[in-house]
Amino acid sequence: MKLKQSAYWAERSRKRIPGGVNSPVRAFRAVGGEPIFIASAHGSRITDVDGNEYIDYVGSWGPMILGHAHPEVVAAVREAALRGTSYGAPTIQEALLAETIGRFFPSIEQVRLVNSGTEATMSAIRLARAFSGKSMIVKFDGCYHGHSDSLLVQAGSGVATLGLPDSPGVPESVARETLTLPFNDLVALEQAFQRYPNQIGGVILEPVTGNMGVVLPQPSFLSDLLNICQECGAIAIFDEVMTGFRVAAGGAQERFAVSAPLTCLGKIVGGGLPIGAYGGSAEIMESVAPQGPVYQAGTLSGNPLAVAAGLKTLEILEREKPHNRLEELTSRLCEGLKSGALETGVPLQVHQCGSMFTAFFSQQTISDFRAAKTADTDRFSRFFQAMLERGIYLAPSQFEAGFVSLAHSEDDIERTTTAALESLKEISHERG
Ligand code: PMP
Repeated sequence: MKLKQSAYWAERSRKRIPGGVNSPVRAFRAVGGEPIFIASAHGSRITDVDGNEYIDYVGSWGPMILGHAHPEVVAAVREAALRGTSYGAPTIQEALLAETIGRFFPSIEQVRLVNSGTEATMSAIRLARAFSGKSMIVKFDGCYHGHSDSLLVQAGSGVATLGLPDSPGVPESVARETLTLPFNDLVALEQAFQRYPNQIGGVILEPVTGNMGVVLPQPSFLSDLLNICQECGAIAIFDEVMTGFRVAAGGAQERFAVSAPLTCLGKIVGGGLPIGAYGGSAEIMESVAPQGPVYQAGTLSGNPLAVAAGLKTLEILEREKPHNRLEELTSRLCEGLKSGALETGVPLQVHQCGSMFTAFFSQQTISDFRAAKTADTDRFSRFFQAMLERGIYLAPSQFEAGFVSLAHSEDDIERTTTAALESLKEISHERG
């Protein structure tokens, strides 16, 4: 595999772009080596600037559920562009997208479109604080909700410790309003409400996590969390930026038969163009300006190209109902990984939810971030590089989800499991 052009452009980009990338994980820091510069993508494949082709399980970090450059989505974007790329005024398509989102998510009676997942969660937090009249927010350790100040907070130690900023530049005064708790830990949540009575306005979570790798909620975690929030007067915010339209058509809420007062969406809802969305019950959403007092706005919000891509993507999902097939393909891939682990003796915890998966290089059962961090990241890095050598493009970090798309074929999956077995054999000879 030749990576000459990628190396050249990585070097050149670093002079003008911090770290050479416009989002940190793209720099491959966690796995070593130079990032790969992409020239094009079609279906399940991406091609780099040196002409190497890979089977892609990153899928732009989740949006590309139909595969890359789906002809109907490309045509919809092209047609929209011919009508003008932005007006800063309402369009019919925005109304249609809002209605479509409501069909997938019955809990979303009203929705506001924004430009990214970060904007969606940031705005939902503001709304939860305003609606509840309380300023503290609970998040869960290992869940990522974008990079707004309130949410860029790491766990302190123990239950309900006051948050510490996860990045310089996040003021401690803001971080102090965010509590972080272990995922799947309802006792910690109840204790937080006891310790800070009448102060917690919102509880945000990834109902199935992707950002510490795929970790599932334990039975009744989601429904109990919703009940606790309701009893304590806090608004539960389901961040379904990754899981929405992915773990089921109606996201984690459909899959686990629950209904959240506020939901954040992103990724698939924009069909590969920049959109985020937040929505929920009309009672809460009516607080958003201009209907209500909670301000939130955007020059490019509801952008016609992004709305066209999102609308077409959701239309195809409604028409083709692909979630069973996606889950089956992903199960096959995960079975291949598990049998590879058994055959080679490499300890692997393979987690799957719908078409999201993570293989943790760990012996431990993983139900929260503390356990996820037991994974052997050096071993993961060697696996990642061995897979890349074999034309398989995985997320360049142990703590991420992989995504299977409708464009992945059975042959793709078979090639991937063969590559995984070879890669596991290769790394099992080295010391873990
Ligand atoms: N929430 C979740 C669950 C995410 O996975 C992400 C991004 N990976 C975000 C929010 C932030 O979205 P964006 O990168 O579009 O700002």
